[in-house]
Amino acid sequence: MKENSLLAVIAAAGIGKRYGSDLPKQYAHINGQSVIEKAINPFINSKQISKIIIVISRDDKEIKNQSFYDDKKIQYVYGGSTRKESINNALKVADGEFEYVITHDAARPNIKEEDINDLYKDITQSKASCSFFFTPVYDSIKEIDLNERTKDKSKFYLVQTPQISKLDDLKNSIQKCIDDDIDCPDESFAIEYSNLKLSRIQGSRSNIKITEPEDLELLNKFLIRSGVGFDLHKYESGDGIILGGHKINCDFKIVAHSDGDVLLHSIADSILGASGLGDIGIFFSDQDEVNKNLDSSKIIEYCLNELIKLNLEIYNVDATIICEHPKINPHRYKILKKLSDLLKIPETSIGLKATTSEKIGIIGNNEAIAVQSIVNIKGKA
Ligand code: ZN
Repeated sequence: MKENSLLAVIAAAGIGKRYGSDLPKQYAHINGQSVIEKAINPFINSKQISKIIIVISRDDKEIKNQSFYDDKKIQYVYGGSTRKESINNALKVADGEFEYVITHDAARPNIKEEDINDLYKDITQSKASCSFFFTPVYDSIKEIDLNERTKDKSKFYLVQTPQISKLDDLKNSIQKCIDDDIDCPDESFAIEYSNLKLSRIQGSRSNIKITEPEDLELLNKFLIRSGVGFDLHKYESGDGIILGGHKINCDFKIVAHSDGDVLLHSIADSILGASGLGDIGIFFSDQDEVNKNLDSSKIIEYCLNELIKLNLEIYNVDATIICEHPKINPHRYKILKKLSDLLKIPETSIGLKATTSEKIGIIGNNEAIAVQSIVNIKGKA
């Protein structure tokens, strides 16, 4: 395929009535990115796409806040009151240098660059006027009429975007729908209405269209991110250690610049790792006097605030404390309760385990304590 040979048109003028929120559904956030950012990135990254026209509503106040806003491939046009008018407005500014146009919905964030290549390959091989992705119908289908009859589902399939069309054929077909005042749910319909050839390729059921709030929840389940953490501190003689904000009295203490809460340090590193923010040392240097004897719950507080800024939340934590002494089991529940308070998640979302180092190495000789942890985070719906 020739590079820079394709035009993309993204329909983003939806006002989210069905989504039931003031914020149009394409601007909801998943895992630190908006739905529309995720939907448009494959087009920005594709070498085949040289121009992207995004159709927005005149009342749109969010588009300027999107990461792609100033991208040089992108041009903006205002939409009409229906999809056919919106697409028509975009095609009017396409300047004749393109043979094909790919149309897509801003509310479908789960597509890949390969999808663009697959569509192009299919339309050129099939010589159709439009090629689109479909998925089979797996649930039973009944028709809403007086008899509520079950239909033969093998005779139906579901239609998705992206779709690719011959630009001139699509222009003429959309104009025909407008002239005939025919409702046009998608571009393949316009081509079908003009009796031109269609082709289809099986798509993925993960290419969901964000329509209801629960669709975002579903998408979030695909997008859990994980971060691992590890921390180790030396012991010296003293009067106790702090683990997960809980003080355990014993004959030694942890050598550290801060309060030495090795469990919270490891979990903080996991959170920062999962959210792509770096590590604890960047934010709380052990060279900085300000952090002397620092209460480590402040580090966790800081991490949680960073997560809020990114619209992320902790989904699950698992940690293993590795030491010979003190025995963790008698304190396990109190530590767990404290962790649940600090992390603001239920105890059932926290795994807390303890093991020894079989009397081998510095941990085995009771000279140090270590913690290994993993944190899973997801976007807030
Ligand atoms: Zn530490």
